[in-house]
Amino acid sequence: MDDYRHILLATDFAPESRCVGERAVELAARYDARLSLLHVVDYVPLELSNDMMLAEPVDVDGRLVDEARDSLDRLAAELGQEGAQRWVVLGSTGPEIKRTAEEHDVDLIVVGSHGRHGLALLLGSTANAVLHGAPCDVLAVRVGEDAQG
Ligand code: AMP
Repeated sequence: MDDYRHILLATDFAPESRCVGERAVELAARYDARLSLLHVVDYVPLELSNDMMLAEPVDVDGRLVDEARDSLDRLAAELGQEGAQRWVVLGSTGPEIKRTAEEHDVDLIVVGSHGRHGLALLLGSTANAVLHGAPCDVLAVRVGEDAQG
C-alpha cells in the first residue's frame, strides 16, 4: 500500500471530537503527509414570507462562515498545525466532504464516528454519508462514550 500524501480532517468542532484531530495529526506525521482541515456550514436559508420580512438583510451565511474560519484557526493552533490548509464550505456535510476531498487529491479522509445504535443508526451519520461513494480511504475514529482509551 502506498503512503498517504494528503489527509483531510473533517471537523464539527465538538469538544469530544478532539481525539479525531489528534489521530489525523498523528497519521500525517507518520506518513509525512500534508494535512488539511475542513468544516462544512450546513446551513439552509429559510424562505421568509412577505409578512415576515426582516427590517434589514442579515448575512447569516457570511457570519457562520466567518465564525467557522475563526474556529478552524483555533483548532489548527490547538493541534500545532498553524501551517495546515483550511477550508470552510457551505452545503450538505457528507457530499461537501467528498467533493472537497476529490477536488484536492486527498487520499485519506478522517472523521469522527459516534457508534450510534437503533434509530440514530438508521437515520445515518456523517461518517456513513462520507463512506458511501468516497473518492479515497476513510478513517472513522470512535468518539464519545463508546470510544476506547
Ligand atoms: P456526526 O455524524 O454528524 O455526529 O459527525 C461525525 C463526524 O463527522 C464529526 O466528528 C466530524 O468528523 C464530521 N462532521 C460532522 N459535521 C461536520 C461538519 N459540519 N463539517 C465537517 N465535518 C463534520
